[in-house]
Parts: sequence; structure tokens; C-alpha cells
Amino acid sequence: MIVREPGQLPALSGSRCPSCGDVRIPQRAVCCNHTVKTEPISLSGAGKIYEAVHIFLPPKGFDEPFWAGFIDLEEGPRFFAQIACAPDEGDPQHGEEVEMVIESIGSGEGQVLAPVFRRVGSHVAV
Ligand SMILES: [Zn+2]
Repeated sequence: MIVREPGQLPALSGSRCPSCGDVRIPQRAVCCNHTVKTEPISLSGAGKIYEAVHIFLPPKGFDEPFWAGFIDLEEGPRFFAQIACAPDEGDPQHGEEVEMVIESIGSGEGQVLAPVFRRVGSHVAV
């Protein structure tokens, strides 16, 4: 799902059907609408918030409450990920534009490299 090419920033990868244009994350070898072989693509990371929830009781491996939600990516797929939000920014809202960054999430030995979305124009340092 995350590709790391030498000399380039990590990016989110998926697949696109050359016949019907269907885009999927994670990448699929064959289009789920018919039997056409898909092509790998790199996604822009731009999208809009569909739904956001505040996780007050974080799961094991996360020390602090955080926001997460469904992001409608501009290429089409709906993607669930963490949403960066500073306390003074207000709650993330449906329809707000977001951009993706790749960062370490979690705490301790449970840290993983993952896509995180922040609102366009946000001052949150991620
Ligand atoms: Zn297709």
C-alpha cells in the first residue's frame, strides 16, 4: 500500500483498470468489475473527509486519543486513516479538503509507517 522508491517520498499505491477506470486500494491484479488486468498507480493523497470520529479510548499501541475517519480520495476510493488535528482547529467536518502525509503512528514498539491526513491549510506538524 505504501511504496518507497529510492530518492522519493513514500507514496500511497493502488491499481486502476485501463478499461473501466475503477481505482482500488490495496492494489488488485484483476479488475473486480470484469477480468481485465489492472495497472499500478500512485495516488495523489488529496481528498475530502467523508466521516470523522474522535477515538477517546485508543487501542493498544496508541497512547493518546486521536481522530480517524473515511477519506474520499480524488481518484475515487474511500480510505480509512488517521486524521491529524490540533486542539485549536475544531473537529474535522464532512467535506473538508485534506492532504496526505506518511508518518509513524502509534507508540513504543508498535509504531508503523502509515498514511495520515490533515486538512489543507492546517498548521499541524506531522
Ligand atoms: Zn474494470
